Amino acid sequence: MTGKRIEGLERRGLMFVLSSPSGAGKTTLSRLLLERTPGLSMSVSATTRPKRPAEQDGRDYHFVDAARFEVMVRDDELLEWATVFDNRYGTPQAPVEAALSAGRDVLFDIDWQGTQQLREKARDDVVSVFILPPSAHDLELRLHSRAQDSAEVIRGRMNRASHELSHWAEYDYIVINNDIETAYAEVESILKAERLKRERRVGLTGFVRELQRQLG
Ligand code: 5GP
Repeated sequence: MTGKRIEGLERRGLMFVLSSPSGAGKTTLSRLLLERTPGLSMSVSATTRPKRPAEQDGRDYHFVDAARFEVMVRDDELLEWATVFDNRYGTPQAPVEAALSAGRDVLFDIDWQGTQQLREKARDDVVSVFILPPSAHDLELRLHSRAQDSAEVIRGRMNRASHELSHWAEYDYIVINNDIETAYAEVESILKAERLKRERRVGLTGFVRELQRQLG
């Protein structure tokens, strides 16, 4: 980013949540956002599900066993957690707090259960986006082309998609991912607009007062 930093225009970090059924393109959208948007970091979840071949421990997830996950829940280390497809997923709290207090926004790829918990804990700081596939056929094609899961797992994900979709109305924004660049532009616009929200711009009162003082 170029331009001089203006004193008094600090902003509170926001929690930007992307949810969708598996295969709707959320992972690609997250990657593009991280590559192209300064000031945004990804929340890396802990999970008990097995690692897929293309995934890297610590980058895509923290892969842990059930016992370790249980300890994280017991010790209150997770901001939210849920069971999805018989596996457990949760958001480690400490990195999120560190990023937010450093004025960075945090991107979450979590399901509706986690989004509800975040909303309960920090309503004003959460901006949620639900990504819809353009059709069921498209979703199935994407799950197959990913070629990372067995046919049985894909069937399970298709069955679950309908249930996940039923939570669309709990989200602040809905994006239909028919074309990845169009969907990306929409998601980016949401983030840009939410960053400009008056309530998040904690230094604004002082800034305007100073402007008024200069105006006399
Ligand atoms: P996958 O196994 O395909 O990576 O993820 C399955 C589902 O779990 C996705 O809908 C994803 O958004 C969700 N998920 C991933 N991490 C978390 C988490 O930390 N908390 C919750 N609640 N859901 C998560």
